[in-house]
Amino acid sequence: SEFLAERARAIKPSPSMAAKSRVDQLRAQGRDIVDFTVGEPDLPTPEHIVQAGIDALNSGDIRYTASAGSRPLLEAVRAKFQRENGLDYALDELIVGVGAKQLIFTALAATVQAGDEVIIPAPYWVSYPDMVLVNDGTPVVVACPESDGFKLTPEALERAITPRTKWLLLNTPSNPTGAMYDAAELRALGEVLARHPQVWLMTDEIYEHLAYGDARHLSPVAAVPALAGRCLTINGVSKAYAMTGWRLGYAAGPKALVKAMATLISQSTSCVSAISQSAARTALTADQRCVREAAEVFHARRDRIVALLNAVPGIRCPRPQGAFYVYPSVEGLLGKRAADGRVLRTDLDVVMFLLDVAGVAVLDGAAYGLSPYLRLSFATSMENIEEGCRRIRQACEGLT
Ligand code: PLP
Repeated sequence: SEFLAERARAIKPSPSMAAKSRVDQLRAQGRDIVDFTVGEPDLPTPEHIVQAGIDALNSGDIRYTASAGSRPLLEAVRAKFQRENGLDYALDELIVGVGAKQLIFTALAATVQAGDEVIIPAPYWVSYPDMVLVNDGTPVVVACPESDGFKLTPEALERAITPRTKWLLLNTPSNPTGAMYDAAELRALGEVLARHPQVWLMTDEIYEHLAYGDARHLSPVAAVPALAGRCLTINGVSKAYAMTGWRLGYAAGPKALVKAMATLISQSTSCVSAISQSAARTALTADQRCVREAAEVFHARRDRIVALLNAVPGIRCPRPQGAFYVYPSVEGLLGKRAADGRVLRTDLDVVMFLLDVAGVAVLDGAAYGLSPYLRLSFATSMENIEEGCRRIRQACEGLT
């Protein structure tokens, strides 16, 4: 490990990847596990998008593309931002990457220097702090309690900003809480940012289309157009079109930043797979019915998992507006004793208890920066939701 650079030693593998290997291990031992840890749609990629990938292969559309992405895809991204977000970007203000994840990483790599601070509202997507650390930055985690809807308030933002603040990283709809920012909330945050011109805004909108009931996604920069000159809007096809393994994200922002990101990509991954770029172009330009249909499937699952979890003694589950996760409080389980004598003191203890006693895999709120909560993904079948929640209820009813 002496051989490894400090930057490699500063970070840890993602907890959801670690949970996945623990579930695989238990299953290999013959245990029957209901898995609520998975952060990707369980639905297949829609057929017309798969066909576009096959067509790309058959037509020989398999060469390197420009580092920022192929022109036809960038045009599709441009039209998408206009159509769905009311955002107008020129082609040289757009870029595609190997998932939203590469674009977030690359934007940080292109801008963050040692000592620079990045504000991350908690609970957060687990990768954000590590991506800041690996780029020599300092994550500034701001707790956003349930009483604030798990959302960043203007007061908390104001308190967190220092002369070293480089970015505010906002995720709406949020992984892990499903919280979504409305126009008034975004404008209030925008007023704070207006007073601090050194702070840029990076928005992760990967769950945009998974919004339920009356909830409507609003791009922060559409709510606060004055921020356009210092905002990077990030999105991708992974969650909307069940395309996680295709690895394609896209972003819009000021030309100089986008150019620096494209240069970093040109010297690392060169470009996204041409096949995925062709398929993503079809995803963004074809009929969007598949997106609404997927959202309806998740909507029904959300309603069911929230109802089932709220019937468990000791668990209280707020109803998420978007994404495909619930973030229930397990405060009511802490201090309780299991039949084997163990006492549940933290949300991680609850995770291990549910894994051992109920055969149910979930993630601890601690990994997402706010305890005592659990994160459960409902990107799984209704049968798994029914069976998993039945097991959780039975296990929790056995606590004293
Ligand atoms: N952003 C958030 C908040 C996520 O939850 C995820 C995936 O779990 C990603 C980004 C990654 O998206 P992509 O597959 O486009 O890299």
